[in-house]
Parts: sequence; structure tokens; C-alpha cells
Amino acid sequence: MLRFASLGSGSKGNALVVEAGNTRVLLDCGFGPRNLLQRLARLGLGGDDIDAIVVTHEHSDHIAGAFPCARRYGYSLHLTHGTHVAALRSKPDLHEYAVDLHLIDSHQVFAIGDLQIQPFPVPHDAREPVQFVFSDGQHRLGVLTDLGFSTPHVIDSLTGCEALVLECNHDADMLANGNYPASLKQRIGGRFGHLDNAAAAALLGQLDTSQLQHLIAAHLSEHNNTPLLAQQALADVLGCAADWIGVADQEAGFDWRTLA
Ligand SMILES: [Zn+2]
Ligand SMILES: [Zn+2]
Repeated sequence: MLRFASLGSGSKGNALVVEAGNTRVLLDCGFGPRNLLQRLARLGLGGDDIDAIVVTHEHSDHIAGAFPCARRYGYSLHLTHGTHVAALRSKPDLHEYAVDLHLIDSHQVFAIGDLQIQPFPVPHDAREPVQFVFSDGQHRLGVLTDLGFSTPHVIDSLTGCEALVLECNHDADMLANGNYPASLKQRIGGRFGHLDNAAAAALLGQLDTSQLQHLIAAHLSEHNNTPLLAQQALADVLGCAADWIGVADQEAGFDWRTLA
């Protein structure tokens, strides 16, 4: 059995719990130690129930709490060389954190306890960003947030998954008509920024979704998107009701979803 839940999703902080057998891993940790405990408690978990943190890239909404929580609670920490270098560059005192650090190869599957974890590199404005497919040996959960544009390798990595957490960052019209400065609009909408709803839908349309049991729209902009716009864009591809699509909330995340 594989199950997963979100502790929060969006530019103010991300963390996803993935569980198989006796193993529980956090994907990203944008929350500090005390905030993390409060969010874990909503799922009936304590700090000791997590084994490891796997980090996608060095942006603070994904990594801010990773080193402090790994140090405080003794989690192993898994990230690419590029993410590690970039994290140390922006916060040199991380050198002094005595954490159980594991550098991962962005193309090489690795295991943490009962979980198999396949990284795949993605285009995004970070040093060596990756996203992941998690498996208990039977079921596959693909997670994709923070992506500038889709690539054939992204499609190959995610196709056929039974569960997907998929970035729907913004609605292109809302971003264009909103009051962000032009440079920020360009970064978000550019090739190393974030997927808009239409791009996420186009990506979904290229995947084999015949096994799909759970689809969650994630990393929604609080200013440039609405849950309904994201749900509708994805539902149109699958031909399902909009409310079948889950939405990962910045504050509430989403509750356990199970693949069995
Ligand atoms: Zn992000
Ligand atoms: Zn990012």
C-alpha cells in the first residue's frame, strides 16, 4: 500500500508525506520544525514518524525547513549536488548542520526503506532541480511541481502513474491581467518558471492516464489562479467532473490518499 498527503502546497511552503510499509518520507520541507509538527499532527503523525526528507530544489518554499527539521528530528536528507551547492551558497551556516546527508543522482533510482524513488530532472530556474516518482514496488505516485515546460523525459517519467500531483501554478489570463511587475510575470510564465493550467492540461493529455486513481492540482498561485480554474482545465482532459480533481491547499494541503 502506498499513501500520501500534503501538509501545504504553494509559494509559502510545500511538504508532501509519502508512506509505504514502515517508511515515511517528506517530499520537500518548506516549513520550520514547529510548523511541521503542527501540520503532521493533522495527519495523526508526530515528528518521529518521518524517516527522511527528499528535496526537489533550493527555492525556499521547498527547502527552508529541510536542514532545520533534519537536524532537529534526525531525518536523513536527500538532494542533488546542485541543490546542495545552491543551498549552501545562499545560507553558508548550513555547513555546520550535522545532518545525515545523501547526494542523489538526478537519473538514478534509490530506496529509502520500503519506498523506491525515481528522480527525473526538470527545467526550472534552479541549479539542479528534480521531481520524483515514488513506488512501493506495485503502485506509482508521480509528483511534478515547479516546472517551466514539459519535456519528453518528463512525459516518460510520469506516464502510467496511478496517482499524480501536478502543478497548476497560474491561469495565464489572470497572470497577464494581474498586478505583478512585468519582470516577475515573465519569470513565472517563462520557460524556467511555472506551469499554467493550460500547460498542465496539455502535459496531462500526453500521459497514459488509464490507471489513474488520484489527480491533485498543486502549487496554485494565491493571486493568479483559482481552484476551480485548475480543476476544470484538468477535468476537461480526463472527461471527468471538476470536483473529482483534488486541490492541494497552501494552508490545509490535502488529506491521505491511498493506492492499494
Ligand atoms: Zn515552488
Ligand atoms: Zn521553484
